[in-house]
Amino acid sequence: MIPVDYVHNTIDNIGVVVHDGVNAQGARGPTGDTEMADPKKVEELLALTSDQLVSVYVGKSGRCACGCSGKHRYWDAEEGSKRRGYAVDADEVNRGYVRQTLGTIQLHAEQAEYEGHGIWCYDDGKKMYVAYVR
Ligand SMILES: [Zn+2]
Repeated sequence: MIPVDYVHNTIDNIGVVVHDGVNAQGARGPTGDTEMADPKKVEELLALTSDQLVSVYVGKSGRCACGCSGKHRYWDAEEGSKRRGYAVDADEVNRGYVRQTLGTIQLHAEQAEYEGHGIWCYDDGKKMYVAYVR
């Protein structure tokens, strides 16, 4: 079992949204801004395919995305391990889940937010869906 602090720090370092909705670069997280989506960015989102993603995250709306309020699933164990900094287990790899989560974000492309660093987020007020592009 990896200590929670270690998980937070590791994930923070790769720019994932962490506690209180602010990521490592200080950008606003999914709970923050409500600006209109950039049309060019929306096109980019709609053109994404699931094999271009490292992972997805689905969890409670407005909560920390470290995995304590939801779950991360990876497209590929090797790529995922490299990005996360420690081994991604086989049960954390779920391509169907990655595909489905990307589909949900794309379905709501106009409401989705680009968080920078290849991170897309859609929050429906109950759950948030995050996609991490390679
Ligand atoms: Zn957390």
